[in-house]
Amino acid sequence: MQQLNGKVALVTGAASGIGLAIARRYAAEGAKVVLSDLPTSEGERVTAALRQEGFDCAFVNADVSQPGDCERLVEQAVARYGRLDIACNNAGIGGELAPLADYGLDAWAQVIGVNLTGVFQCMKVEIPELLKTGGAIVNIASILGQVGFANACAYTAAKHGVLGLTKVAALEYASQGLRINAVGPAFIHTPMIARLDADDASRKALEALHPIGRIGQPEEVAELVLWLSSPGASFMNGAYVPVDGGYLAR
Ligand code: NAD
Repeated sequence: MQQLNGKVALVTGAASGIGLAIARRYAAEGAKVVLSDLPTSEGERVTAALRQEGFDCAFVNADVSQPGDCERLVEQAVARYGRLDIACNNAGIGGELAPLADYGLDAWAQVIGVNLTGVFQCMKVEIPELLKTGGAIVNIASILGQVGFANACAYTAAKHGVLGLTKVAALEYASQGLRINAVGPAFIHTPMIARLDADDASRKALEALHPIGRIGQPEEVAELVLWLSSPGASFMNGAYVPVDGGYLAR
């Protein structure tokens, strides 16, 4: 028995890494999946590959930092599949790495624009559709929504902000049957962290931050996101759930 039969799910930033693993996991549980990403991304190619595997999915390009794109994304998802049951706001960038006093204003605006304002803009247009189906939102935050990380002020501030957005929206819509939660991955093996584990010493240092002794895989995040999106998580709302190999347990 597939958990998401008859459901329609939307995933932003789905051309790569964690977003792609989530899209695949949703599809494997029977959902029709709208993958979204930048027009310059691998989105069309990975969606075609999922279709080849027999999954029912479509690609819609959208830059989540652009409000018009977010509106068009939800419109096209609903036009294609007739409803929206699940939205996973995953698109994100790492941004510049520099101490706060040296952090560029443009670099700050870019990270906040994608990682925080992008989630806000997507939620604004997803919520009216999800209220019709009694759906669920899962926002991809980070351990850096809970603790700091030197040289990543914009990313850390944005991810803390995503937790705030998640909690407020959860309070506002819980009584109307909509569940809104956030997950917090620690370091996960995706292109985003390539510059942080480029050599052996850096990789070992990253691994050592995780009591479990390794960084995570995108599929390990997707498993949690699937559960939070599914009827099995019917009493989960406004939560931040870490998936971090014990990173935050220190
Ligand atoms: P990734 O770079 O592999 O994938 C991110 C995707 O987002 C890319 O396909 C990219 O094209 C897309 N994207 C970037 N800007 C966008 C925009 N403006 N509009 C639409 N799409 C855009 O990275 P990932 O590691 O899979 O990251 C996915 C999410 O997980 C991000 O929100 C990231 O902050 C979060 N996260 C990642 C880690 C990690 O260690 N990899 C840890 C915690 C949280």
